[in-house]
Amino acid sequence: MQFTNRRKIVRTFTGQFEDYSKYKEPLSNDFHHRCAYCDTLDNIITTPFEVDHFIPRKIFKDVRDDLDCDYTNLIYCCKKCNIAKSSKFSGDISVANPTNEMFYDPTEQDYNDIFYRNEYGIIVSEDPKGKNMISELRLYRPLHALAWLVGQTNDTISALEHRIEATTDVEQKEKLNSALNKLYKYYHKLNNIFISNYNEKNDLLASINR
Ligand SMILES: [Zn+2]
Repeated sequence: MQFTNRRKIVRTFTGQFEDYSKYKEPLSNDFHHRCAYCDTLDNIITTPFEVDHFIPRKIFKDVRDDLDCDYTNLIYCCKKCNIAKSSKFSGDISVANPTNEMFYDPTEQDYNDIFYRNEYGIIVSEDPKGKNMISELRLYRPLHALAWLVGQTNDTISALEHRIEATTDVEQKEKLNSALNKLYKYYHKLNNIFISNYNEKNDLLASINR
């Protein structure tokens, strides 16, 4: 299964702020409201998403302070991924256009070419750097598979809602509506499990290692 069905990430925002956190809203639009690393949708989580510095602050501090509010260095991601990524870096900060070679830049690299999902929805990769990213960002956690399942259910609900809207047959509409109601209930339960596990610091799903 493919890693994500999100559209390509394109940086369309051209404004400038002196506080990097102010870029969160334009980032959320450009990143299609998903964590750039694990693909979790921001609207299914109660923990606010964060702004990650692709080249970490600790690395560029006093050397390239311009990167603090450089939009091209900012990534929209969930708290779990931001914590896992922290100051991890490899590369040369002294070159003209430095990058963080430890990770694939989600705006440059299509993650579907690097990652995929196994039958349980767990994020996997055959690519050496991709494998390393899974380990460094802890993308192997079942929590991310659960987020994916919630996202898939969300997509199915949207598709069903559109179909119901387009259906004129009354009987057919009723059947579809009853299916939709079941799906809402399932989504609600699944989402609650996901949120309670995401919010817990030492949750079971997050702590299981490979
Ligand atoms: Zn994430």
